[in-house]
Amino acid sequence: MSEIKTIHLKEYKKPAFSIESVNLTFELFEEYALVSNIMSIKKIDETQSILSLDSIDLELKELWINDLQLSDSRYTIEDEKLNVLNVPSAFTLKIINKIYPQNNTELEGLYKSGTIFCTQNEPEGFRCITPYLDRPDVMSVFTTTVIADKELYPVLLSNGNKTQCHDSFDSRHGVTWEDPHPKPSYLFALVAGDLGSISDEYTTASGEYVELNIYCDKGNESKCHHAMKSLKEAMLWDEEKYGREYDLEIYNIVAVDSFNMGAMENKGLNIFNSAYVLADTDTASDANYMGIQSVIAHEYFHNWTGNRITCRDWFQLTLKEGLTVFRDQCFSSDLNSSEVQRIEDVKALRERQFVEDASPTAHPIQPKSYISMNNFYTSTVYEKGAEVIRMIHTLLGEENYRKATDLYFETFDGQAVTTEDFLWAMSEASGVDLSAFKLWYHQSGTPKLEVKESYNNGVFTLSLKQIIPDTVSGKTQQVYFYPLKMALLDENGIELLEKTLLISKELEEFSFEGLSTKPTLSINRDFCAPIIIEEEHSNFSFLMKHDTNSFVKYEAAQSFAIETIEALMRNEGLNEEYIEAYGHLLDLDIDLSYKALLLELPSVSTLMQRMSIVDFEPIYKAKEELSLRLATVFKEKLLNIYTQNHFAKSVELDALSMSQRAIKNRVLRALSSLESQDITLLAKTQYEESLTMTDRVVALDILENTHPTFAQVALRDFYAKYKNETLVMNKYFSILAASDREGTLQRVVALQNDEVYDEKVPNLVRSLVGVFARNYKHFHSKDGAGYSFVANKIIEIDKINPQMASGLCGAFKIYNKMNDISQTLMKVELERIISTQELSKNSFEIISKILKINKK
Ligand SMILES: [Zn+2]
Repeated sequence: MSEIKTIHLKEYKKPAFSIESVNLTFELFEEYALVSNIMSIKKIDETQSILSLDSIDLELKELWINDLQLSDSRYTIEDEKLNVLNVPSAFTLKIINKIYPQNNTELEGLYKSGTIFCTQNEPEGFRCITPYLDRPDVMSVFTTTVIADKELYPVLLSNGNKTQCHDSFDSRHGVTWEDPHPKPSYLFALVAGDLGSISDEYTTASGEYVELNIYCDKGNESKCHHAMKSLKEAMLWDEEKYGREYDLEIYNIVAVDSFNMGAMENKGLNIFNSAYVLADTDTASDANYMGIQSVIAHEYFHNWTGNRITCRDWFQLTLKEGLTVFRDQCFSSDLNSSEVQRIEDVKALRERQFVEDASPTAHPIQPKSYISMNNFYTSTVYEKGAEVIRMIHTLLGEENYRKATDLYFETFDGQAVTTEDFLWAMSEASGVDLSAFKLWYHQSGTPKLEVKESYNNGVFTLSLKQIIPDTVSGKTQQVYFYPLKMALLDENGIELLEKTLLISKELEEFSFEGLSTKPTLSINRDFCAPIIIEEEHSNFSFLMKHDTNSFVKYEAAQSFAIETIEALMRNEGLNEEYIEAYGHLLDLDIDLSYKALLLELPSVSTLMQRMSIVDFEPIYKAKEELSLRLATVFKEKLLNIYTQNHFAKSVELDALSMSQRAIKNRVLRALSSLESQDITLLAKTQYEESLTMTDRVVALDILENTHPTFAQVALRDFYAKYKNETLVMNKYFSILAASDREGTLQRVVALQNDEVYDEKVPNLVRSLVGVFARNYKHFHSKDGAGYSFVANKIIEIDKINPQMASGLCGAFKIYNKMNDISQTLMKVELERIISTQELSKNSFEIISKILKINKK
């Protein structure tokens, strides 16, 4: 067990050595693997005599400098380091060491997922494979030979281009891969297995031929076509939008079942959680199809934003992630409905990032310190990071932004750089001064903007006040600089003007003259800035009906619903004006997926975030009351929409079919709050007759929450059909773990013994324990049983896979917003976790932050 150490950005030092080339040979066996690592090393800092390599659990077999095998006196092994003493200016270092991929349950470094050898090295997994300068600013050219049993592992893959096959006479064989592009060790990858595959090809804009392969478990080949199509779409889009082409002869993707993250952009050899590759209409929902398209694109886009230009250190993670998320969001927006995409992205930001930003683990998109870097693959670094890039895009405009990204690629290709370097390119090419904008990288918390309007003698005045939250430790933060898109509408909803205001001071005033009547304000159009608007007004109904900006129309519908629910929570009765406005939404003749979003009521999480002390009961009660009223008043209209858009036998994946499923399932959910026999039967029939996973899962979820008897039959049927399809079983576990019904915890506990469930597979743990931990009703049950169960799981899983355990710790981040009774119950569990012997640094970091914030 290593000691708990905090790493600080301000302590960054340039590497003292460079690694010019690496030659790796892996001999894979059933019990262990032998790694031979030959590095050509040069001193950068001549005063250094000790080469200190990162290394975890090193079992060293041989160590050589040039032709000399080193005796014990020439090196030391200590505290996750291999120190080689008295090294010359330039030399070849050869290390032979032994590792045990079969026993690796952390899923970092080289491990086995089922029968497949695979790797995950970002951020610091490579040091579990072999001693190395395991930091992103050490970039080297890799040659890799993989040797394994011919029959068990016919497919042997690594980064780059395949250059040699070694077919010896015994039962083993080998393949050599050369990657000509210098890269950091976190982008190294290796795969060995008996895999099925599909192949295709792509010709780049400049005429280079690229072989494309997607590998998966045998039998799943037919489920890879959507991923392949998405890959080719992404390759074309990056050429057209950013002028970036692919740069190797081959692009491989491998789908594995046991994976901590979504996917990994290793150079030329992406390794994916199978959830983001495999899909067919019988087993994948429409959301899965969209997710695959976006994640495949995301990893592909990293080839330029991440791989060719990488991060100097891990504090710069948002340099590659914020930018690449922005790129994948724009890609999805270009290929699908842009209005739906924007709303979905904002929803995800608010559900995850806003919650994180208000919690004890809030941090800037460029953190200043960490204990475990694994804990910083957060929605702040990713999604808020993407919003920051989006604001830069708005400030520069499309044309200047493209000039600036061109300059960024030209200037920094092949280098490991910082967010400062990125901002330099943005500013240099566009002439836009971004010095005040930099604060977005260094401050935490979600900024608010207080909006006041007045109208006098034809002049409309907008008074804005920035409200900036303190840091977690109570430090004051400064006001931001950002763009704010707004418009003024006349009494008929006609746009009088649209403007992007630049906000930079604590107090700002903007006046608009020559207006014959008081206009209606449409603010933060397209969710231009990731802020919270605070305004007392009663224009929601008008904006819901008339706003031409699809985001603000949605926002008005949400805000009006929030206002209505909050009034119910205060026992102030139901606002009839809202019911009328909702009826108007039902009649709109617009894109059906967008309409489905407009009809959605605010989530419990959204309502919870607005309370200083959270009490879930009144939220659920008020939301149910409103849902029931809407369903009662509009039953006929809702049923009409359902009938018009429900085609049980349709399995088409075109935009119209998907949007029909979206609206039909939205109204079915709305109707289900009636809990009436006819609606339950409708759901039951949909489950039985529909051919898509989207329809079946929605129906199953409705039955689970409204009709236990029907649910039991349907769940049994579902289980029998899909028990051999792990990805579908994730959905099964999620529905049960998210259930509102009594006895949910008991069922979740029992499901752990199900033959399909495996605590070593992150997807399964996330869909059962992870989903339960976000089931507010049962996780926060008054007897504390939910807390105690999740704490037990954290302690147990921490020993198997620390990264997965610290993910589960997130459920307790709400601690400081709970009432005293809940806090007392939670505290017992948090203290039990933190006092666990040999708790990982991952879980320690999260729990200690949660506990510390409440000491003040
Ligand atoms: Zn990424």
